[in-house]
Amino acid sequence: MAILQMHTLPDSILRQKAKKITAIDSSIQKLIDDMIDTMRANSGVGLAAPQIGISLRLAVIEIPESGKVITLVNPEIVKRQGERILEEACLSVPGYYGEIKRAEAVTVKARDRNGKNFRLKGRNLLAQALEHETDHLDGILYIDHIDNPEKLYKVSE
Ligand SMILES: [Zn+2]
Repeated sequence: MAILQMHTLPDSILRQKAKKITAIDSSIQKLIDDMIDTMRANSGVGLAAPQIGISLRLAVIEIPESGKVITLVNPEIVKRQGERILEEACLSVPGYYGEIKRAEAVTVKARDRNGKNFRLKGRNLLAQALEHETDHLDGILYIDHIDNPEKLYKVSE
């Protein structure tokens, strides 16, 4: 278990399309554990592998008070429903938050850490996290969804 270094803008790894995971071996299991530690150490709701410098299609999500970690291996969003405006931030874009449009509900298909296929439908914060983390795997950041630069705010200390 280890806390990994966070990669932030303008690190180019955040802009790469991450590679599919072909085998969930012991090195991937260790990476998942380290990503969970790193997400918790940074009080994040989710973390994608490119954020810790590894260009693989892997993300973890832990909705506060849900009591469970969702591990997404090779996730794909298969359905988006509705639309809403919300505030979003990212550990790789420190010091800022912005107002963007996201879906109300999102359905994702992925493998879990045991390699089992699953589908998950999320609403509210889970829908937001599923879209945010899956975006990371395609080199997309929430700031790319901001259409008006005035909707990007600096966090005041
Ligand atoms: Zn992020």
